[in-house]
Amino acid sequence: MITLDVTILGCGSSSGTPALGCDCPTCRSSDPRNQRTRTSAYIKVGEQGLLIDTGPDLRQQALREQLTQVDAVLYTHPHADHLNGIDDLRAFCYLKQGSIPLYGNAFTLDNIRTRFGYALQPPSKMWDKPVLFLEEVHTALTLGGVSITPIPLQHGNWPCLGWRIGDMAWLTDLSHIPDSSLVLLQGLQLLFLDCLNHDPYPSHLGVKQAFAWAQRIAAKRTVLIHMTHRLEYQTLSAECPPGIEVGYDGWRAQLGVS
Ligand SMILES: [Zn+2]
Ligand SMILES: [Zn+2]
Ligand SMILES: [Zn+2]
Repeated sequence: MITLDVTILGCGSSSGTPALGCDCPTCRSSDPRNQRTRTSAYIKVGEQGLLIDTGPDLRQQALREQLTQVDAVLYTHPHADHLNGIDDLRAFCYLKQGSIPLYGNAFTLDNIRTRFGYALQPPSKMWDKPVLFLEEVHTALTLGGVSITPIPLQHGNWPCLGWRIGDMAWLTDLSHIPDSSLVLLQGLQLLFLDCLNHDPYPSHLGVKQAFAWAQRIAAKRTVLIHMTHRLEYQTLSAECPPGIEVGYDGWRAQLGVS
């Protein structure tokens, strides 16, 4: 059986927690679970090391978790808090002396091509730039012996992707899950789900909406991610129904993949 080892690199919203200039109770909290870097995950499956997104905190996240291997990046969408750490992939290209594929939908890959074209060139002897190439996905692919399925989501009016890897799914930054995507989310052991704030927001799930989608998807275990500083770890944990829990940076789990 293949093992899937997932680590939350970050579960903060675009501003991170603490938010600059804020002195609310969450931002002043000494509980490390209230310190959130920008949302991203690392998954070791078989011999493959996979990143979901490259946020602006990637370097610090990689140092914290002692990551030395990235074989592919699965992109959800091109907002700055999910993409702007792309340059730090350079270190992983250097370590493997090779290029790294970036998987995503056409919307995301077009954005990367426009903004980070310098990272899509052949390597130089110095490995002074990331050496990346784009792989547009429409249907499931296999990496590390495990099926990886792109899950189309709506994030306001942006077409974003969630990712299903074996029996785990990562659904960040979404306001709606189309029926055709819900079908792809059956039988999950573990679900990571967007939960921005108490109140609904046009392009994200609020707490009540996240609970409702979690119940509808009915994974064995649901972990909330992409939270603003308005959501305090202990307070939100106390509000969670059974089967739903609050994520934190460094949260980790292992699943078998049949
Ligand atoms: Zn985001
Ligand atoms: Zn705050
Ligand atoms: Zn976003």
